[in-house]
Amino acid sequence: MSATLTLVQGDITRLRVDAIVNAANSSLLGGGGVDGAIHRRGGPEILSECRDLRASRYGKGLPTGHAVATTAGRLDARWVIHTVGPVYSPDEDRSQLLASCHREALRVADELGARTVAFPAISTGVYGWPLDDAARIAVDTVRAASTAVEEITFALFDDRAYEAFAARLD
Ligand code: ADP
Repeated sequence: MSATLTLVQGDITRLRVDAIVNAANSSLLGGGGVDGAIHRRGGPEILSECRDLRASRYGKGLPTGHAVATTAGRLDARWVIHTVGPVYSPDEDRSQLLASCHREALRVADELGARTVAFPAISTGVYGWPLDDAARIAVDTVRAASTAVEEITFALFDDRAYEAFAARLD
């Protein structure tokens, strides 16, 4: 059975879901955008687990396209699943890496037993991915994924992102 897809406009850190996906950077030590918002609202426990990951499995950082979970701290969720989106390149097709972020996040969600998962529009902020193309890759990849997750929500921060994802869902 495939998951139900839902779109919401707004701040992903306000959602109540089993797992919130973070568009992290490879250092796992925090950044701006949605990453900063998740750490701010989720509190220091998330960063502390990220530091532990850097000291163990991910000494060189989390590779692009991979995903790993931590506690969600004070967020209204059980886990944050951190994934590192590719930086957009006009010269090189990195679509497979962006697709991998979505697939790997759902694979980790399945390992955890998460049934409801929220994604931001990965790579569309500082990493510069054009929204329509990112929406195509994100929606097509989660639709094609084989997962026990029942509800996938895309949390789009602004009108433009919301419209791009809505156009793809039609
Ligand atoms: P990336 O480095 O992967 O581009 P960003 O955090 O810069 O990550 O941006 C990814 C997307 O997340 C952008 O569309 C941005 O507008 C959006 N965003 C920023 N803050 C939030 C938030 N609190 N909730 C949901 N989306 C957010």
